[in-house]
Amino acid sequence: MFDLDLHLHSSESDGTLSPSKLISKCVENGLKVVALTDHDTLNGINEAHDQVKQSGKIELIPGIEISCNLNGSEIHILGLFTSLRDSRLREYCDRARKNRLSRSKKIVQRLQKIGIEIEFEKVIDSAGTAVIGRPHIARAMVDAGYVKDTKEAFDLYLGTAHSAYYPSSTITPNDAIEMLIESNALPVLAHPLRSKIKSSRNPIENLTRLVSEFTDQGLAGIEVYYGDYTSGQIDKLRLIAEANDLIECGGSDFHNSGNPAEPQPGTIGPPMNTFYRLKDRLR
Ligand code: AMP
Ligand code: ZN
Ligand code: FE
Ligand code: FE
Repeated sequence: MFDLDLHLHSSESDGTLSPSKLISKCVENGLKVVALTDHDTLNGINEAHDQVKQSGKIELIPGIEISCNLNGSEIHILGLFTSLRDSRLREYCDRARKNRLSRSKKIVQRLQKIGIEIEFEKVIDSAGTAVIGRPHIARAMVDAGYVKDTKEAFDLYLGTAHSAYYPSSTITPNDAIEMLIESNALPVLAHPLRSKIKSSRNPIENLTRLVSEFTDQGLAGIEVYYGDYTSGQIDKLRLIAEANDLIECGGSDFHNSGNPAEPQPGTIGPPMNTFYRLKDRLR
């Protein structure tokens, strides 16, 4: 098991564990430093902090995962060491929350058109106060018996290539990087390559060129040790990180999704040196 996991989701976005339960699980798994990186929200950070203080055994990096759109393709930028008080970041989160709600309604309508009769009200109810995402819709599809699990919902209906898909993002990677830097957070490029368990997701095209552009704009790190990446994928990403002098980040991207193949917190991650490099870069 690893000491550092820089990519985790709670029930404030599309994970299923509350921030405090997530932290407890990370402590159980022996992690020393973790980042909570919910999609487009900072709402889980305070609860996670309280649990961290109680346990006394783990350190929390406040984070976020920003869904970006570049010419129609989806790119995720993580922000590490985010400030809860930055007004621009907070405004972005408010806007993204509203946008995700109307977008999920569009996705549900598209599903209804192809005969998948799930109710939007039920999807919102199940999301509660969370920032809504496709996994909430996927769970409603499982509950209504249309698919056997959420992975099947993505593979058959919700993946980027399917007719019910509708993008969530309102911001380009450049703008996200700039916003994060302005708020004194460190931008990190998330999951640059294809992952087996999230098979419905497209890999980033022109990765080498894009990474060098993002680096010029201030990207600080790139996910190298991610989720279910193979050693071949990790080697490739290490070379890209080295060539651009980016900090090698990564983590499980744990959502407690119920998929038995999902990497657990601490089963993959960067070396502890990454944490020291990130802290150095913050200064
Ligand atoms: P959204 O932010 O609404 O676009 O949804 C993206 C989220 O859906 C990701 O962060 C994952 O949690 C989840 N996801 C994406 N692809 C898959 C997949 N193939 N199987 C299960 N969950 C997925
Ligand atoms: Zn997610
Ligand atoms: Fe992501
Ligand atoms: Fe994620």
